[in-house]
Amino acid sequence: MEQLLAKLYQTNHLTHDEIVELLGNLTPEGKKELFRMADETRQRHYGKAVFMRGLVEFSNICKQDCLYCGLRRSNPSADRYRLTDDEILSCIEEGHELGYRSFVLQSGEDFRYTDASLAAIIRRIKSRYPEVAITLSVGERSEACYQAWFEAGADRYLLRHETASRELYETLHPGMSYDNRVQCLTTLKRIGYQVGAGFMVGLPGQTARHLADDLLFLHDLQPEMIGIGPFIPHSATPLAHESGGTVDQSLVMIALARLFIPDAMLPATTAMGTLDPVGREKALRAGANVVMPILSPLAVREKYALYENKICTGDEASHCRHCIEMRIVASGYQIDLGRGDHCSVTGPCPA
Ligand code: SAH
Ligand code: SF4
Repeated sequence: MEQLLAKLYQTNHLTHDEIVELLGNLTPEGKKELFRMADETRQRHYGKAVFMRGLVEFSNICKQDCLYCGLRRSNPSADRYRLTDDEILSCIEEGHELGYRSFVLQSGEDFRYTDASLAAIIRRIKSRYPEVAITLSVGERSEACYQAWFEAGADRYLLRHETASRELYETLHPGMSYDNRVQCLTTLKRIGYQVGAGFMVGLPGQTARHLADDLLFLHDLQPEMIGIGPFIPHSATPLAHESGGTVDQSLVMIALARLFIPDAMLPATTAMGTLDPVGREKALRAGANVVMPILSPLAVREKYALYENKICTGDEASHCRHCIEMRIVASGYQIDLGRGDHCSVTGPCPA
């Protein structure tokens, strides 16, 4: 195990068999060493900065039916909402006043927001606040649509690959195709977006071999951002009775992702904070360097339930900012409210 960790630290790579071996033999001391290496690697690339992104969850309407997600179209108990353009703008305005310069617009796959109408929202935000970075996370669309949004001013796109196992992917996503997911990610990269991929940990049927596939997939794709979090079963989905992922397993995968793709922007996800009150702080110490406080209007927060018992659904945006900032500083890191671009955008990434 020590040898594998040392090799990973030096080369930022392991073979599929080596990853499986490492995952099967990690002792508590091995984990500590892994987290220390990941934290040191993140420090070399981004110092102690934790980049803040204000998250606006603007619609929970979705045409997809992902088995794990509370927003899936077959969940009749989801209380659906859509924010108007003005409502989205006022979330951004509030975030801007709080100091955020990086925003994520996320939703279900809601085609009521057309190629043109979302482009118009992006343009409105960019003409009012030219200095901010906009990240979209609204699922699979056509190349022409991704191109139009990029031209309207979108800088980044989050589209987790969810799992790099074709078989597992297609079981969990009825009517969707693994090839199309991967195609979307390569298209987004080619257009010029900073791209975020990522996966859930603890999916039903997921083994160490699948997780090794995920790391190697990320190593090939070299995304600028990587979202990793535990799968949390939602009671109104077909996976209600599955056991789900743990914070511990997710921390190991976050640390490994930091070592496989050293310059990635890696969020300490809300799902980590939901399973453990200090899950996000633990993620920061395991190599994560981004936090995404929620800016959505209080009235809709609970309705954006990918999973249940999500944290921060009752807190004002200003409260969230202070709460998370306190936690970051207490963990020994520093808040960065800037655009938070990937190091390849701002200058050459450190070797
Ligand atoms: N509709 C878009 C964006 C919203 S979903 C999309 O699917 O890309 C954002 C992410 O939430 C998904 O990529 C998935 O990884 C995560 N997610 C959904 N349901 C979840 C659950 N039950 N537990 C943990 N994460 C979940
Ligand atoms: Fe829709 Fe995204 Fe949930 Fe899938 S994960 S059902 S695409 S919101």
